[in-house]
Amino acid sequence: MPFLHHAVTTLRIITKPSVVVPNLTVRSVANINFKKLRDAGYEGVVIDRDNCLTKPRQDDLVPSLKDAWADCHKAFGPDRILIVSNSAGTSKDASFLQAEALTRNLGAPVLLHEAPKPWVVKPILHYFADLPPLSAPSAAAQPKLEAEPATPRKPIPPRLLVIGDRISTDILLGSRLQGSFSIWTKKVWQEESFGVRVARLLEDGVLFGVTRWRVWRRKRRGLEPEVDTAQVFVKNEPVVEEPAESTWWNSIVSRVRGLLPKAT
Ligand SMILES: [Mg+2]
Repeated sequence: MPFLHHAVTTLRIITKPSVVVPNLTVRSVANINFKKLRDAGYEGVVIDRDNCLTKPRQDDLVPSLKDAWADCHKAFGPDRILIVSNSAGTSKDASFLQAEALTRNLGAPVLLHEAPKPWVVKPILHYFADLPPLSAPSAAAQPKLEAEPATPRKPIPPRLLVIGDRISTDILLGSRLQGSFSIWTKKVWQEESFGVRVARLLEDGVLFGVTRWRVWRRKRRGLEPEVDTAQVFVKNEPVVEEPAESTWWNSIVSRVRGLLPKAT
């Protein structure tokens, strides 16, 4: 039902524009401080494949992300990193061969799912719910409670990082996962089809409009400009750039992206 999915996504953006705004914008995965995010209490990572970890439709990590990926594994461990792609692990992936290759090459599981991002909330929550807790509080630290009648409690959703290069899929997914922290990676390692390029440009335009509107609204209400506290999770180490193709399309995209919130 791609048409229905697109229609609902558009409606969601119109009714609640803030869903397109990431919590953090970085140039690439190499600029994310995974250790600090783990220390801040985030319990797992949901990460995209195409143009985030690998070049489109490829199953190997972009070489310059090797150290960052190792840091991610060190902070969260392989089980708490879940690759969620709209190609690998879906019906577009015959016999799940891409998912298998990705798991082997990147050392993290790939979610097998039917509905595309951002409509894949339930399988993600089920995956993390089945994992053992990260750390159980020690007996001494536990407060002594009086015997109370057991009342069913709603499970607390895990605090997840949702990382990806697309606003309409990855960042919107982050807005649908309660308590999560969305990270937008701006670097495009290799351009995809014309349709994806147009969609990416539209997403950039919507994000630009919403960001400007939020600034204007705060000013109108007499509030101070928003302080970007998420910058503490950015790694300022220089990223080894892989040469981008120089085309007329890329020059338009880089001009539009120059207008968007700056990524460190
Ligand atoms: Mg992607």
